[in-house]
Amino acid sequence: MKMVPVISFDNYIDANIMLGKLQAEGITCFLRDEYTVTVDPILSNAVGGIKLVVPENEVSKARVLLSLFEQNKKTALECPQCHSHNVEYISNPAKSGNWLSAIIGFLFGSYALSIKKVYHCFDCGFEFDDLPPAKTSLFSEN
Ligand SMILES: [Zn+2]
Repeated sequence: MKMVPVISFDNYIDANIMLGKLQAEGITCFLRDEYTVTVDPILSNAVGGIKLVVPENEVSKARVLLSLFEQNKKTALECPQCHSHNVEYISNPAKSGNWLSAIIGFLFGSYALSIKKVYHCFDCGFEFDDLPPAKTSLFSEN
């Protein structure tokens, strides 16, 4: 069976969370290149991060689930100040306080070094580090 990558990650924690979610939905899936990335994060650009692969015949099902997870994540994000859902997790080099690490981060890709990431509300401009309590599982809202 040919294995096809459907998504990639820059760290093994996110990769394993998504692996577990897909497996819980009955998808056969594995991670590739995990070892390389974990040992040396700077190499993750070169190998394209940690790839989550699924059998060719489960690609479309996996893609549907991935987009559902993504939507779910978006609705779960809520600005604590104005309660807008127009919130994204963005890099914020200005807050890293170190122009050198910003430049090195730019050269090696944003995940090579600690560029600060924050949740930014595009409606009121409020920025926050911590997520509000996550909503429960994927299909519970119906
Ligand atoms: Zn807001």
